[in-house]
Amino acid sequence: ILTIISLLFLFLASGGGYIMAGRAIIPIKKSYDRQREFVADASHELRTPLSIFMASVETIQRDKESKISPFAELVLVDMKDEIRNMSKILSDMLTLARSDAEATTILKEKFDIIDIIEQVIRSLQPLANKKDIQLSFKYQMQRVIFADKNRIHQLLLILLDNAIKYTPPRGTVSVELEFLTKKPDIKIIVKDSGMGISAEDQELIFERFYRVDKMRSREIGGTGLGLSIAKWIVLAHGGSVSVESQIGKGSTFIIVLPQ
Ligand code: ADP
Repeated sequence: ILTIISLLFLFLASGGGYIMAGRAIIPIKKSYDRQREFVADASHELRTPLSIFMASVETIQRDKESKISPFAELVLVDMKDEIRNMSKILSDMLTLARSDAEATTILKEKFDIIDIIEQVIRSLQPLANKKDIQLSFKYQMQRVIFADKNRIHQLLLILLDNAIKYTPPRGTVSVELEFLTKKPDIKIIVKDSGMGISAEDQELIFERFYRVDKMRSREIGGTGLGLSIAKWIVLAHGGSVSVESQIGKGSTFIIVLPQ
């Protein structure tokens, strides 16, 4: 009882609370900080052996002397896919750990949003062509916004990549840019004619590592961290992100960024 009372006292006195770590009692905030640092350090450190691993596989593939069977060649291709996937997970984890620690600053500048959207569309066009998906972009004349250029590029890449990934062949994906007149905000709408997301899942897709259909998602590829990063970018700009969707009828992601 005494232990419980003293723990309760510690909790109330701390304001932030305490946590048991083995036999030690440490403040919750400190424990979160340690966890964040651990995730950031681990994901950073794991990238080096992974790139060595990738280089080794490529060396075997390039080595004309090695007599590997056609089956082993296929295994090497699969290994490279998995290494790429793991590198993506690690870099997404690092982005989120740094954003949690508020170690990533948002650097706002004036830039042409239309240029950035066109750049993202160009880089994803080959992916869309492979699935015969029609990519379109509608915008008004105004072009300049005030935001973090690299982060907005990353945000658009996540949303458009998802829209293409989760839309079956011969579908459509569109980006629409609106400059609101009532408030000085901009609205970016990413719409697809894809598989859609149920109401329950719409609440969860912005959670870290949440993926709707784990089996299908695995075939499609991805980390389950994209939308968490997208949400962080929007919130760090003081904006909002929402989704409207119905199963089988496509999804619409709406982003509002204050100016
Ligand atoms: P992932 O790397 O799996 O795409 P995200 O965090 O970007 O991770 O998305 C989480 C999950 O939300 C996805 O696995 C997918 O199930 C669902 N999702 C995201 N975007 C769409 C979309 N445009 N259409 C249908 N489902 C989507």
